[in-house]
Amino acid sequence: MQRDALNLLHGNNAGSLLVTFCICIALVFGFDNNPEVSLKVYWLALVCVLFLYRYWDMYHWRKYLKGKEYDASKPMLRFTIARYLTAFAFSAYSIVFFESMDIIELACTIVILSAMAGGASTVLAAHKGLALSYAFILLTPLSVLCLFANEEYQNIFGILGLIFVVVMFSSAKYSNQFTIESILTKHQNSDLLQQMELKNKEILEVNASLESKVQKRTEQIFELSNIDPLTKLFNRNAFSENLKLLLDSCELHDSSLAVLFIDLDGFKAINDSHGHAIGDKVLIETSTRLSAQADMKQCLCRWGGDEFLIALQDCDVERALEFANNLIFNLSLPITIEHHELHVGATIGIAMYPEHGTDEAKLITLADTAMYVQKQLAKSDVCVFTEQMGETLQREIKLKEGLSQAIKNDELFVVFQPVIDSKSGQVGFCEALLRWKLNGELVSPMEFIPVAEQHGLIHSIGAWVLHESCKLASKWTFDETVDLSINVSVAQLMHGDLVSIVKSALAGSQLPAENLHIEITESIFAQDISYVLEQMKALQRIGIKVSVDDFGTGFSSLALLQSLSADVVKIDQSFIKSIDEGGKAIIQATQYMANELGYSVVAEGVETKQQADTLSEMGVECLQGFYFSKPMKTGELELWHEAFKAQRN
Ligand code: C2E
Ligand code: CA
Ligand code: CA
Repeated sequence: MQRDALNLLHGNNAGSLLVTFCICIALVFGFDNNPEVSLKVYWLALVCVLFLYRYWDMYHWRKYLKGKEYDASKPMLRFTIARYLTAFAFSAYSIVFFESMDIIELACTIVILSAMAGGASTVLAAHKGLALSYAFILLTPLSVLCLFANEEYQNIFGILGLIFVVVMFSSAKYSNQFTIESILTKHQNSDLLQQMELKNKEILEVNASLESKVQKRTEQIFELSNIDPLTKLFNRNAFSENLKLLLDSCELHDSSLAVLFIDLDGFKAINDSHGHAIGDKVLIETSTRLSAQADMKQCLCRWGGDEFLIALQDCDVERALEFANNLIFNLSLPITIEHHELHVGATIGIAMYPEHGTDEAKLITLADTAMYVQKQLAKSDVCVFTEQMGETLQREIKLKEGLSQAIKNDELFVVFQPVIDSKSGQVGFCEALLRWKLNGELVSPMEFIPVAEQHGLIHSIGAWVLHESCKLASKWTFDETVDLSINVSVAQLMHGDLVSIVKSALAGSQLPAENLHIEITESIFAQDISYVLEQMKALQRIGIKVSVDDFGTGFSSLALLQSLSADVVKIDQSFIKSIDEGGKAIIQATQYMANELGYSVVAEGVETKQQADTLSEMGVECLQGFYFSKPMKTGELELWHEAFKAQRN
C-alpha cells in the first residue's frame, strides 16, 4: 500500500519540482520593484538546496527502488519531510515578504500559492496528511496576514484565500479517498490475480499429473496388448502389425524380406524334468540371445510357447540361411541356470518375400511349415520353404482331419496276410494290417499311420484295430490253429494302457491270449528300454507272444536281442530283397541267434519262389510275402486257405 502511494507521489515529483522551481524564479525575479530582492535571493538559495535534496531523493527512488519490492516507510518519511519543508518555505516567503508586496505582487502571490495548493490536492493525493495540510500551510499565513491588514483589498484577498483553503481541504480529502481506494482495488485485483495464478498453477499440476497417469496407463495398455510378459519381446499381435508395415515398405522399395520361424528343440524335456520356473529362465535367456542377434527389436517376437519369429529386411536366401545357422549355433550353446547346464537346440524354417508370399499371415504360416517339415526330417537345422512342402502339409492336414472321423464314418477295415511255416508248409499266423478308404481313395498305412501317431489319433485307432482284428480272428474256421499278429505303434506301447486294452479285446472276442502276437517295431528300442521291456513282459505274462518287427532297420543290435526275450523276430523285407547283395549275412546272424536264444524268425517281403527256397534252406522258420499271398479281407483269407491247402497236398 505505502509503496504504491510513494510510487504515485514520486511519479508526479519531477513535474511538480520543475513547476515549483519556475514559480520560485518568477517570485524572486518577477517583481523587480520589490526592495527585498536580495533577501529573496537568499531565500531562493535555501529553497534550491531543498530542491537539490528533493531531486536526489527522486533520483534515488527511480534508480534503486522503483519497480522493486522495498520497505517504503523511510523513503516515505524523506518524501514527506521534503514536501512539508517546501510548503513551509513558501509559507515563510509569504510572511517575510508580505510587507514589501504591492497590490500586484500580492495578488500574483496569492494566485500562485492557490494554484500550487490546487495542484497539490491531486498531486499529493496519495498521502493523506500532505494532501490535507498542504493548502493550509501554503495559504493560511498569507490569508490571515491579509485579513488583518489595513487595506480593504488585502482583507478581500485574505477572505478569498481562506475560502480557497477550505475548498482545497475538501477537494484534497476527496482525491485522497479516491486514490487510496484505487490502490486498495488494485491490491485486491492483484490478490485475485495471485489467487488465479495459484489456481491456474494447481490446475496445470493436476493436468500434468493426469497426463502422466494417462501416459503411464497408455504404456501399460500398450505393453499388455503388445509385449510378451515373460520375455518382454513383442507378441504375435505386435509382430504381425510390424511385419505388415515392413512388407509395405518392401513393396515400395522393391526389396526382399525373410521370415524365420524358430522352434526350440528339447525345451519340453527341460520343462518336464526341471520345472516351469527353470523353463521360463531358458526362454528368457533364449530371447536375450535372439535380441542380441536380431537387427531390430520390432522384427522379433515370441510367437508362443517355445516358438519365436524374426523378420530380416533386405535379405536374400543366402543371407537368411547364414543368419539362421548362426542363430542355431548361438541358441545351442549351453545355458547355465542354478548350477544346471542345460541344452536346447533350434529348428528354423524360412519363408521369403516376395517369392513365397506377399502378406504377413501367409509368410508366417509358410515359415512355420518349413520349420515343421525340417523338424520331422532332422532337428537343429534350417530349411527354406518349397511349394512341395505346402502340398505335403495340406495333405497331412487333410489326413489328420479325415482320420479323426474315420472310425465314426466306418472307413477303416482290417486285412490279413498269412505267414507260412517253412517246414510244415502250413499257415502259422496271419498279420492284421489296417486299411483306410477316404472318399474312395485307399490311403496307405505307411502314410496315415505316421499322421495318426503325430496327432495322437493312434490310441483310438490302435484300440479299434485290436478289437476288430480279435473279433474277426475269433471267427476263423481254419482246420488248424492259426495265430493272429497285430501291429502296435511305439506311442501305444509307451502310453501305459496297452495291456488293459489288449485284455479287453481278448475278453470281448473270446480269442485265447496264446493265439495273439503283438508286433512292435524295432524303433521302440530308442525309447526308455526298461519301460519297453516291462511292457513286453506284462504282455508275455498273459500268454501273448511279442514280435520285433522290421528287425535290422533301426536301433536294436544283435546284442540287444539277447536281453529282449522276444518270441518272434521279423527280419525286415529290405534284407530279403537284397539277399544276394549282403542281406544274407544279417539273416544268417539273426537265424544263428534265434537257435541260441529260442525265438522264431520270420522273413518278410518274400516275393519269389527262389527267395522262399533260399530262406527255407537257411532254416528260416516262417515266410511272409506276396509270393504266398497279399493281405486279404477275412472272407477271402478262408477261400485262399482252402486253395493253398489243396495246392500243398
Ligand atoms: P509292416 O508291419 O512291416 O507290414 C508289412 C508290410 O509289408 C505291409 O504293408 C504289407 O502289405 C507289405 N508286404 C507284405 N508282403 C510284401 C511283399 O512281398 N512285398 C512288398 N513289397 N510288401 C509286402 P502295408 O499293409 O502297407 O503296411 C505298411 C506298414 O504300416 C506296416 O508295415 C506297419 O508298420 C504299418 N501298419 C499297418 N497296419 C497297422 C496297424 O494296424 N497298426 C500299426 N501301428 N501299424 C500298422
Ligand atoms: Ca508288422
Ligand atoms: Ca515289417
